[in-house]
Amino acid sequence: MREMDLASELLIALQAVHEAAVVCRQVQADLVTAATLEKKDRSPVTVADFASQAVVCALLAERSAVPVIVAEESADQLRASAAAEQRERVLGLLRQARGAGVTLEQVYGWIDLGGAPGAERAPRYWTLDPIDGTKGFLRAGQYAIALALIERGQVVLGALGCPNLPAPDRSDGVILSAIRGRGAAQQALQSRRSVCLPVRVSHLDNPSRARFCESFESGHSDQQWSAEVASRLGITLAPVRVDSQAKYALLARGDASIYLRLPTRKHYQEKIWDHAAGMLVVQEAGGTVTDVDGKPLDFSTGRRLARNRGVVATGGTIHQAVLAAVGAALADSYAQS
Ligand code: AMP
Ligand code: MG
Repeated sequence: MREMDLASELLIALQAVHEAAVVCRQVQADLVTAATLEKKDRSPVTVADFASQAVVCALLAERSAVPVIVAEESADQLRASAAAEQRERVLGLLRQARGAGVTLEQVYGWIDLGGAPGAERAPRYWTLDPIDGTKGFLRAGQYAIALALIERGQVVLGALGCPNLPAPDRSDGVILSAIRGRGAAQQALQSRRSVCLPVRVSHLDNPSRARFCESFESGHSDQQWSAEVASRLGITLAPVRVDSQAKYALLARGDASIYLRLPTRKHYQEKIWDHAAGMLVVQEAGGTVTDVDGKPLDFSTGRRLARNRGVVATGGTIHQAVLAAVGAALADSYAQS
């Protein structure tokens, strides 16, 4: 695919992420007013996951030259008889987004475009996380809509919508995006015509002054291990705990300097849609992204990063120092166990 084509694919991706963010925001507003947050009821999230995936897949199917999508959800759960209420809500959201004539069969079709078996073996495909950071979404905190284009195992384009992260003009919501080799940019989510500004990581020389971020959920990243890494680097600032790929956004903009994702389970393999868009945005903003062993993230192994464990992302200059501290903290914990 030539550069020219990637530029038009980026416009389509930005439009898709923008439309998905509108849907997610609508569900989140209902969520807060309906006080479902206290009940820890996950069904509103599912409604938003399905609706977000449907709007993105519908737009890609209509306009993208790459019709293959590897996404997190399939429509099976929505088809089940117990899901009548969810179905109605998803259909209502799609009718608002794409017109009153939308049918349930169309909605199933769009969602299932993202779930076709073996799609990840295609030479080129999109990968989508319709709502990354569902726990953050439920807490009315950070979440992201992450869309990336993978070509022969390489992430070549990424669009990362963070509806609850401030834009450069301080308005609510930002989209970060990148094309491989052409830098990263951010723009306010509120208008499709908002100004696009380049983003750069912060190039710290001294890791002890780094602000690091990690998952809010202790089950998704080993917070004890990262505290040990921080202490080895002489970091005194408290970690910023944030859900979703908003962590990559913070790093790309220089709001944080290190993102540590240290495995809590020995055999956990990261999913491609949790990292593709965020990784490219950070790399194109001048940063470095590897796994905990210093290896590049390998997107050629299907739906999971089967050859990697964990993620270490930094502004670049301090990457080797951070990897050394990660390795030493790991060796220490093995020595004690
Ligand atoms: P975060 O927002 O950083 O907590 O990451 C959210 C993502 O963590 C979800 O989209 C899941 O795919 C992923 N996840 C689920 N379980 C684990 C785990 N045990 N280790 C690492 N990531 C996980
Ligand atoms: Mg996710």
